[in-house]
Amino acid sequence: MIAIGIWFIRGGRGSKNASGRERPADLLDYLLPRDIYTHISARVDITLYVFERLLRPLWAAALILSVGTFAETQVIAGLSAVMGSGPALDTGLGWMLLYSLVTLLVYDFVFYAIHYTEHKVPALWVIHKVHHSAEVLTPLTRYREHFLEGPIYAAGAALAYGIAGGLFSWLIEADITQATLFNIGFFSLLFGFNGSFRHYHVAFHYPVWLSKWLQSPVMHHTHHSYREKHWDTNLAAVTSLWDRLFGTLYIPEKDEYTPWGLGPETQDQYRSFWQNTTGPFKDWFAMLTGGSMRTSNPLAGGAARTDVNSRER
Ligand SMILES: [Zn+2]
Ligand SMILES: [Zn+2]
Repeated sequence: MIAIGIWFIRGGRGSKNASGRERPADLLDYLLPRDIYTHISARVDITLYVFERLLRPLWAAALILSVGTFAETQVIAGLSAVMGSGPALDTGLGWMLLYSLVTLLVYDFVFYAIHYTEHKVPALWVIHKVHHSAEVLTPLTRYREHFLEGPIYAAGAALAYGIAGGLFSWLIEADITQATLFNIGFFSLLFGFNGSFRHYHVAFHYPVWLSKWLQSPVMHHTHHSYREKHWDTNLAAVTSLWDRLFGTLYIPEKDEYTPWGLGPETQDQYRSFWQNTTGPFKDWFAMLTGGSMRTSNPLAGGAARTDVNSRER
């Protein structure tokens, strides 16, 4: 619906094709471009999506109960040790909204920290590379990840909910279990929607002032680009605050070229479902045996990928 509206307003502009270039298109081609939805990358997304959906509930439940509960009790114990018992504030709508806002910010920070580390540490980049091996973006690309990456992010989410929950349990007098469950449900939906929206191929820009606060979809298109100036930018999930604070924010120009994937040098090593599933193990093996994999396999963003992409630009 939103996309149809934007198509009318923008006269068919804003839709990108499989090479990441924007071009005017008729309505059907705008909403569901054939070159994107028949691309092998989009088909692999579907398989990885099914795989991810099957495993996610297991990881999420186990980690919320272990990591989440542990973080919450640690935060409460820490605050009580340093500052005594909490102020036992009355609950009200204002506090609940604040609790939600803090949950969002803590989650976004944890997401940022994990994502940043994955981009900078070669041994972790090979896992995250599966997400970046997408050559086209579709709403399902959000779920395109290696099966080892699911538990990492689920642990991060549980940690974030635990930290925020611990803080507000300490601050507020009443039991906040309901509010916590509401937050988890609400933010899971929000992150799901936001995540799919920013993997849609249409370049939705926000005004620059808003992009400094919230990540627009086109900013995530940039994150997926293999052009060197786009590497390791826009790493948070929802807000732009953490990227701004740590200097990784990149707001693209209108019609900026964002070719997706790993780049022509190594893309064909991470194309099929099987390659994406076994790829990290192969890369680890190559790293352990000390082979000169750098020329054939891009490692983390930043320095290690330089030689691969310098030719590309
Ligand atoms: Zn990334
Ligand atoms: Zn992505």
